[in-house]
Amino acid sequence: MSALLEVAGVSVSFDGFKAINDLSFEIDPASLRAIIGPNGAGKTTFMDIVTGKTRPDKGRVTWGEHNISLLRKSEAEIARLGIGRKFQRPTVFEDQTVFENLIMALKNPRNTWSTLFYKRTEPDIERVEGLAREIGLISELRRRSGELSHGQKQWLEIGMLLAQDPQLLLVDEPAAGMTVGEREHTTRLLREVAKTRSVIVVEHDMEFVRQLNCRVTVLHEGSVLAEGSLDHVTNDQRVIEVYLGR
Ligand code: ADP
Repeated sequence: MSALLEVAGVSVSFDGFKAINDLSFEIDPASLRAIIGPNGAGKTTFMDIVTGKTRPDKGRVTWGEHNISLLRKSEAEIARLGIGRKFQRPTVFEDQTVFENLIMALKNPRNTWSTLFYKRTEPDIERVEGLAREIGLISELRRRSGELSHGQKQWLEIGMLLAQDPQLLLVDEPAAGMTVGEREHTTRLLREVAKTRSVIVVEHDMEFVRQLNCRVTVLHEGSVLAEGSLDHVTNDQRVIEVYLGR
């Protein structure tokens, strides 16, 4: 199976400081991956590279036939290539209903106003209902998004990204601030999404990573320090030393 995303020998420096240092790894299609690492390990910079926000000084990021590291494309254009990114804080349109948020994302993710006047066709409505079912908000479709719980807003935003039909989702600390029940729902949702699309979760919370039960990549000083199951990487002496500070 060929990789969906291939990062090969990528380096990025800020004022001479190597935030990403000869980073290489691959993401398979329809897979779930957690990226962990201490503060400053390079996790955010990695996501910035994959979404076109930061251009590497060296190396190659291959996405299908595209070399993302060379493309002169905006973040929005990279999103249109099938890479969606979810930041930590949910950004839904609080005055709109769940339905309206999803249909806006479906019709035109970057032009809110014009989508308010779109004709809502039957297939669109069915697709929105399908998305709402997938994220667990089918019974909340008519609710104003501002009234949703923190967890529900996060799921709605994941649904809005899914509406754009990405092949890869980058998700930053999705379970932060969630209740136990919401975390379990998020785990189920991400595992379900990853059956047909790839998901990379950047996470600090080891209990949540354990729940995800997926392959883990440990970053340290901008490189891969260890990779494998959570048990495998947390038993690695180098990880214990640098990541757990023992
Ligand atoms: P993480 O997300 O794992 O905490 P980051 O990718 O944010 O790590 O940062 C990696 C390193 O690069 C840190 O030491 C950080 O201070 C540095 N860094 C990140 N972005 C910039 C920037 N725009 N300018 C200067 N230094 C940066």
